[in-house]
Amino acid sequence: MLGNEAIARGAWEAGATFASAYPGTPSTEVMENLKKYEELYVEWAPNEKVSLEACFGASLSGNRSICSMKHVGLNVAADVLQTMTYTGINAGLVIVVADDPGMHSSQNEQDTRYFAKMSRAIVLEPSDSQEAKDLTKWAFEVSEETDLPVIIRSTTRLSHSSSIVELEDRVEVLKKDIDKRPEKYIVLPANARRLRANLDNKVKKAVSIFEKSNFNKIEGNGNTGVIACGVAYEHAREVFKYASFLKLSTTYPLPKSLISDFVRRFDRVYVIEESDPFVADEIRAMNLGVEIIGKEVFEPSLEMSPDLIRKTLFNVEAPKYDLPVLPRPPLFCAGCPHRGVYYALNKIRMKKKDLYITSDIGCYSLGALKPLDATDTIICMGASLGMAAGLAQNLKSDDGIKVVATLGDSTFTHAGLPGIAELAYNKAPVLVIILDNRTTAMTGHQGNPMSGIRARGDETDPIKIKKVLKGLGINHVKVVDPIDFKKLQKTIEKMLKLNEPCVIVSKRPCVLVERAQNVKYTVDEEKCKGCKICLNVACPAMSFNKDIKKVKIRADLCYGCRLCVDACLHGAIKQL
Ligand code: SF4
Ligand code: SF4
Repeated sequence: MLGNEAIARGAWEAGATFASAYPGTPSTEVMENLKKYEELYVEWAPNEKVSLEACFGASLSGNRSICSMKHVGLNVAADVLQTMTYTGINAGLVIVVADDPGMHSSQNEQDTRYFAKMSRAIVLEPSDSQEAKDLTKWAFEVSEETDLPVIIRSTTRLSHSSSIVELEDRVEVLKKDIDKRPEKYIVLPANARRLRANLDNKVKKAVSIFEKSNFNKIEGNGNTGVIACGVAYEHAREVFKYASFLKLSTTYPLPKSLISDFVRRFDRVYVIEESDPFVADEIRAMNLGVEIIGKEVFEPSLEMSPDLIRKTLFNVEAPKYDLPVLPRPPLFCAGCPHRGVYYALNKIRMKKKDLYITSDIGCYSLGALKPLDATDTIICMGASLGMAAGLAQNLKSDDGIKVVATLGDSTFTHAGLPGIAELAYNKAPVLVIILDNRTTAMTGHQGNPMSGIRARGDETDPIKIKKVLKGLGINHVKVVDPIDFKKLQKTIEKMLKLNEPCVIVSKRPCVLVERAQNVKYTVDEEKCKGCKICLNVACPAMSFNKDIKKVKIRADLCYGCRLCVDACLHGAIKQL
């Protein structure tokens, strides 16, 4: 089973009945697999905060609930997490957070365990798919016993690799009574102070459970001491073949007596973990008089691996294989409806119109890459709008620079609505382009409130974007089909002349969901001048034949979007 699939199985076996998530690599498959189980209500939420709040509500109603998100999603959900630990829960509540050490598909590699320590939420870290299933199942019991939410911390390598899992039956857990105690769930200061005092007792209870848990185990009797957790445990086992191991599955709060007894047996202990030296620092703070070597000696931003451990700790280089690997730079798909927007913005920039373009998190981040090269910032979900507001307010006296913000449809409902309110309320002269491709494409085409498709594929009312924008105070809203490139370009140029917030909705389904037209294009070699202007649209179906000095289009890759037709100044691209 895939790690994420095993997590979903664990939730099902534990009798969970409610699941809510916002997609984000590497966590998305947790919900995609929860959808397989009919016993669960499943939903995609507009963002991680709402997802966690929905699970909190389900817990208060008496049902075991699970939500999942990528690590940066926890920034969005942190507000509720920080107080949820004070109030506690009713039925067991599990939060799957998938970290991305090495940043394979993320903007940072923040370590979720610091959030857990700050909020005092529990963290369990599986090392393989079997543990992913078993720890998730156990997490619901721990949550109910301690009155705390439990985080299952996964990492990319665990979420996206497979190992054998022994399955068990589902436990039909009796629904708890609805919990309506105001002294527990209304955090007015008098209640909050009392709840805060009790929080430390809940953490102590968790520690006493973890000191005795079989999920934390001592293995081997070598002279070298190693403490490892998560998937890094598997890497450490490959390197330290004859060491004594303390395998930790509970990394917040730590079972300090167990750790202390183990560490004192050695002069030096290696702590192998993913992302930051979280466990190593906690052990150092215990002042056990033993040298602790942890993640701080590793080069930052590299995912842990057996080769990295050998190289960093023992200066042993991994064998080198002289295999040619062709570079494969990321590109928009052939026929992608986003391409035209960035091509148009790039053309406007080339005409010496100075644009500052803020963008956001999604497939359309690729608009930053050459030759499209039409993005100046990408920070986090929704930041395109707030940053554009600040830029525009400070640049508006400078006639030369116009500010454009681009973001996708899912990002718009995730974190874009407050940004639009900011632009409208404070009259920031920003052109916003919402790239509405009717899906959350980058994570695998999940539905969202703009598409009106729900988690199990059933339809609901989609957000009426024009009405929402007008209602928020945007006076100029245009909906354009980006396949009509000339109209799109003209609309952008016209809207850039406005001196107030305005929005273009570039609306066309993702080409992988619905192709633009059932036609293909080819190059007329007689007419082609070999000028390569069409290659600026960066379509993977197009290449330049150096021998004949003409552009070629691969018919099997062409999705018929026509963008190259509009780009060619010599009328050399025609329908096949
Ligand atoms: S823009 Fe037209 S003429 Fe120039 S290389 Fe492309 S197809 Fe040929
Ligand atoms: S029409 Fe041109 S730009 Fe569009 S997919 Fe085909 S080759 Fe690519």
